[in-house]
Amino acid sequence: MNAPIRDWEPAYAARASRMQASEIRELLKLLEQPDVISFAGGIPDPALFPREAAARAYAEIMAEPAEAARALQYSISEGHSGLRQWIVEHMRGRGVDCGIDNVVITSGSQQGLDFLARLLLSPGDTALVTWPTYLGALQAFNAYEPRYERLMPLAGNRPAASYAEAAAGAVPGGRVKFAYVVPDFANPTGETMTLETRQRLLALAEELDIPVIEDAAYAALRYDGAEVPAVQALDVARRGHIDAARTIYCGTFSKTISPGLRVGWICAAKPIVQRLVLMKQASDLNSPQLNQMVMLRLAETGYAAQVDAARALYRRRRDCMLAALARHMPDGVGWSRPDGGLFIWLMLPEGRDAKALLPRAVEEARVAYVPGGAFFADGSGVNSMRLSFSMAGEAQIEAGIARLAAVIGG
Ligand code: PMP
Repeated sequence: MNAPIRDWEPAYAARASRMQASEIRELLKLLEQPDVISFAGGIPDPALFPREAAARAYAEIMAEPAEAARALQYSISEGHSGLRQWIVEHMRGRGVDCGIDNVVITSGSQQGLDFLARLLLSPGDTALVTWPTYLGALQAFNAYEPRYERLMPLAGNRPAASYAEAAAGAVPGGRVKFAYVVPDFANPTGETMTLETRQRLLALAEELDIPVIEDAAYAALRYDGAEVPAVQALDVARRGHIDAARTIYCGTFSKTISPGLRVGWICAAKPIVQRLVLMKQASDLNSPQLNQMVMLRLAETGYAAQVDAARALYRRRRDCMLAALARHMPDGVGWSRPDGGLFIWLMLPEGRDAKALLPRAVEEARVAYVPGGAFFADGSGVNSMRLSFSMAGEAQIEAGIARLAAVIGG
C-alpha cells in the first residue's frame, strides 16, 4: 500500500511561494530530443570549451603536492588571491581602477545576484529592472520578496521622484533599493545601452541614492562596433574612486571559458565586498579552490584566445540567424540586431501569444524558443520570444528559422 504523499506546502516559508519552476528549466529538457532544433537555452557551445588545457591544469595541480594540498583544502571566503589579482587587471582593461580588496569570487555571477538581493532587499522593497530583464535575476531576487518597477525607458522623462513615490506608496516603509541592468548584449534582448543611457542611469541612481547592479555576463562577446564603457567605469570616473562608486559589477567566466567551473566575481566598493565575504562564508564558506586555481591557469594562458574563438563562432551564427530571419519571417514580425551576446529578441504582431504557439512549434516544427513573457516582471510581453544562436550550427539555424517562420505564418 502506498502511503499518502506528505503535503509540504504548510512547512514552507512565505518566500517559497515565489520560487516557481521556470519555463527555461522545463524547456531545457527538450534539448535531450535530438530532432528538436533548440534556440531556447542560452548556453555556450561546448565546442569552445578549453578541454585539453583544463585537463592539463587539473593534472598539473594534482601532480604537485603543495598545490594539491591547497586545491583540496578549505580556503578564504574572498577567493583565490591570484585569481582576484587577474580580475583586477581585467577590470582595469574595462576602465575600472580597483584593487584586490574590491573583488570577491562567487559561484558564478548567479550567486552574486542572490547575495546582492539578500544584502539589499527587505520584503516589499522595490527593485528597478528593465522590461524585459534576465529571468534568472528575477528568480534570484524573488526569494527576498521585492516588488518591481520598470526602469526603462531612461530616454523618457520620468523623474526619479516618481520611482520613489511609487515604491513608498506600494508598501509602508518600502524603498527603492537598487537598479539592475545587463548593459551589454542583454539577456534576453541582445540590446546594448548607449553611453548616454548609462550616464542617465547613473544620474537617476544618484538622485535616488541607490546602488546600480551591473550584470556584465556577455560584455566580452562583442561582434561589431566599438566598446561602450562599463557603467562602473563611468561611475568611478564621476566619483573619483571605486570606493566612492555606487555600481556593483557582476562578472563571470561562464560565457568565455566555462560555466561548469562556476567561477564569477563581484567588483565593488570595499564595504560592500566585506559584507559579501561574510555572506559567502555563511553560504558555502568558499568557492571550490581547485576550480579557482584551474580558472586562473586557463585565464592566464588562454583568455584572449577563448574570447577570439567565441566571437568568431557566435558572430557567424548571429549573421546566419539574422539572414534567415530576413529571408523567412512573415510581414509584421520584428527582431533585434544585436552587436554581441547570444540572443535575438523577436516580436510577433500585437495580439499574438508566443507561449501559446510553443507547443505547436515544438511538436510540429521541432523548433524551440523561450516565450518572452517569462522575462517581464509583470508577465507582459506575451507577443515576444527569445532566440539563442549559441548552440545551433548554421544549417540548423537556417532550417529552424524557416520552420519557425512557417508556424508563425501558418
Ligand atoms: N547574468 C546573465 C544575464 C545571464 O544570462 C547568466 C547566465 N545565463 C548569468 C548572469 C549567470 O551566469 P553564471 O552564474 O554562470 O555566471
